[in-house]
Amino acid sequence: MSKSGENYVIAIDGGSGTGKSTTAKIVAKTLGITYLDTGAMYRAVTLAALDAGLPAEDGPAMDNLLANLKLGFDAENHILINGVCRESEIRGMKVSSNVSVYCALPSVRAALTAQQREIGKKQSCILDGRDIGTVVFPDAKYKFFMVTDVKVRAERRYKELLEKGEKVTLEEVLENLVERDRLDSSRANAPLKKADDAIEIDTTHISIQQQVQKILDYVGVVA
Ligand code: C5P
Repeated sequence: MSKSGENYVIAIDGGSGTGKSTTAKIVAKTLGITYLDTGAMYRAVTLAALDAGLPAEDGPAMDNLLANLKLGFDAENHILINGVCRESEIRGMKVSSNVSVYCALPSVRAALTAQQREIGKKQSCILDGRDIGTVVFPDAKYKFFMVTDVKVRAERRYKELLEKGEKVTLEEVLENLVERDRLDSSRANAPLKKADDAIEIDTTHISIQQQVQKILDYVGVVA
């Protein structure tokens, strides 16, 4: 809650590897508000569809999957799909290579946007994604858009994947980021785009702590 007692939303959009999630988590903790990782939700739908062998073109089957899918987060913010923690699987390259196709489906966007609005309406919240400041919460009190040199982003993701034991090359990670950005930015429905009133933060040369501080400074909190 803000000093005036009203709930508020902080929207952070940007491409993968810009430091959105790590920053948002720390800001949420500092402000004592809820963090919602919307990318994890799109990744979860993708994983569930891949598990079920459903191609994105199969509209009725996707509708059925969405109607029966329960997404949630545990206390550590790890994704739960129908009550089961699938955090490490949603972060793997298999999901990363498919998510931009499944997440562009109007049915998927409608279902997850509705869930995100429901959560954001009930409490003060910081959400990170691609369309938070433009579509999910166009009236968010604070909006940020993070940009980072793509090579720096790829190196960050590559390091994370190696630490998780995934066998992947830096070139594969870079290619995936470029392709995801292309698909995410060019889709008709809720593309990756800076909201006109979002504050842009270039994170290429700054640390996570500096990213956090920039946001807290705008929000007007002394951490
Ligand atoms: O943020 P993260 O890289 O985990 O997001 C995975 C994918 O989910 C993105 O590449 C994008 O295709 C999709 N996404 C989206 N809208 C959001 C969040 C993520 O389309 N709000």
